[in-house]
Amino acid sequence: MRLSRYFLPVLKETPSEAQIASHRLMLRAGMIKQATAGIYSWLPLGFKVLRKLENIVHEEQVRAGHVPMLMPTLQSADLWRESGRYDDYGAEMLRITDRHGRDMLYGPTNEELITDIFRSHVGSYKDLPLTLYHIQWKFRDEVRPRFGVMRGREFFMKDGYNFDLTKEDALHAYNRHMVSYLRTYERMGLQAIPMRADSGPIGGDDTHEFLVLAETGESEVFYDSAITDLKLGERVVDYDSRAECEAIVKEWTTPYARTDETHDEAKFNAIPEDRRRSRRGIEVGQIFYFGTKYSEPMGATVQGPDGKSVPVHMGSHGIGVSRLVGAIIEASHDDKGIIWPEGVTPFHAGIVNLKQGDAEADAACEALYASLTALGLEPLYDDRDERAGGKFATMDLIGLPWRITVGPRGLKNGVVELTSRRTGESEELPPEAAVEKLAQIYAGHVLRPAL
Ligand code: ATP
Ligand code: MG
Repeated sequence: MRLSRYFLPVLKETPSEAQIASHRLMLRAGMIKQATAGIYSWLPLGFKVLRKLENIVHEEQVRAGHVPMLMPTLQSADLWRESGRYDDYGAEMLRITDRHGRDMLYGPTNEELITDIFRSHVGSYKDLPLTLYHIQWKFRDEVRPRFGVMRGREFFMKDGYNFDLTKEDALHAYNRHMVSYLRTYERMGLQAIPMRADSGPIGGDDTHEFLVLAETGESEVFYDSAITDLKLGERVVDYDSRAECEAIVKEWTTPYARTDETHDEAKFNAIPEDRRRSRRGIEVGQIFYFGTKYSEPMGATVQGPDGKSVPVHMGSHGIGVSRLVGAIIEASHDDKGIIWPEGVTPFHAGIVNLKQGDAEADAACEALYASLTALGLEPLYDDRDERAGGKFATMDLIGLPWRITVGPRGLKNGVVELTSRRTGESEELPPEAAVEKLAQIYAGHVLRPAL
């Protein structure tokens, strides 16, 4: 992408309404614009990051054996009356009446809708196990929408639902979700710690929230620092293997880690003192096993091997995709702007032309642009006729992990400059070597065609 043809409305001033870094930086970097309280337009740069996160979520869900689909945002109230949640959900639910006077709602979650789909089409245990998921906009009329996309009213969420014959099968689905979530967050350059949590209005016994540590997080969390040493890394996981998934879950759930809702002072104090941590965290996902809570009242049953009809065991599992954009920025920024992890960056590298209009500099930038693009990388080329200082400030603000600076002086010596946004370190090297280095850096990442 050439910046002269892009839409990147960066702000010079710090917006006064933003209280936390991620909100400020998303506004300043031209990623979002508030439409009304808790509802945002995703401008091109923000949209690109959102799509990257969505892709990672899809890839990891499909890898775990879960099946993607798409359900609507608007739902009929009737299904929610069947489950008993139409009244329970309260003021957070946006209720709408259509022209025929029918009660509708903008879905805050989809247990009812998916259970209805399931009961309409599945009747035998032979069709199980089944996990369906979608990534779709949700609406919750939050009392205090704030912190930009972190607590919006309209937000983008992955929600998945497992259907199993027995509790044991459903617990395997629970474990599979935990492992696939750990991998998802790692690919986004984040450490999200699973913590035993409270189930709230979704209901159920087994539930974990995934929290990213950040001072601005809304949850109070308590954990054993040993858990922050854990990493999935390059491990290849067989999601069909119960033992393998269970072992990973055990690894991550053995060290103490809980939110304030389930915190147990005695257990916490049993951890060696130098490993006790009490911090704040951002909830970026949650998994639940809730058994037959919805299948029973809604009649989602299957015929078991013995011919008897039994309600299926279910769970639901969510990832806050739009909130993650903010959470990643909270975890990765400095006073100049955002620092994107390579796995989610909207563009792989910025190209800064120090002397736009200089034939040699222009040609070198074009050649770099072409070589990077040919490798499947997406460069953002600042081809505007602007001062170098302004170009650097924009690149730092929008946080691309790598910048190639091209100027007549360097070119005389046959070199360009490659700079890391994270460390600020630069090295001079021939243009082809800079391209080669970026190819290596991004070798392990899935590249996507430009949006
Ligand atoms: P919270 O406790 O933050 O209100 P929740 O527990 O009600 O969230 P879930 O039903 O578990 O939310 O939804 C799954 C995920 O969706 C959450 O882990 C969170 O990352 C995200 N999410 C929930 N509410 C919002 C919101 N208002 N804005 C943005 N993301 C949200
Ligand atoms: Mg939750």
